[in-house]
Amino acid sequence: MVKKKNSEVIVIEKADDMPPMPASMGSMRHNKTASWRSIRPIILEEKCKRCMICWKFCPEPAIFPTDPPAIDYEYCKGCGICIEECPFDAIVSEKEGK
Ligand code: SF4
Ligand code: SF4
Repeated sequence: MVKKKNSEVIVIEKADDMPPMPASMGSMRHNKTASWRSIRPIILEEKCKRCMICWKFCPEPAIFPTDPPAIDYEYCKGCGICIEECPFDAIVSEKEGK
């Protein structure tokens, strides 16, 4: 889901609705940002519709567009963007170190 300036909400339901590349071009791939994380995103396979929106939005990128998508926890910094943007509530947050 993306919010525009005028508060009109645009619902994006599949990766094809977005530019043909992830939001990040991988500028942080050389920095392992796992130590920044206070929460850990968990993809619920049974709820995931394989739309790959999470892959598009992840800023690291730490999500691979596999089936189902996979999170690389060496690079995931726990920003929670994937949790916020998943249109199917298929990513939940778990406290790190639980
Ligand atoms: S976790 Fe959510 S955003 Fe990611 S592919 Fe599955 S349904 Fe789409
Ligand atoms: S919380 Fe989600 S969006 Fe943020 S770095 Fe980790 S996998 Fe990517």
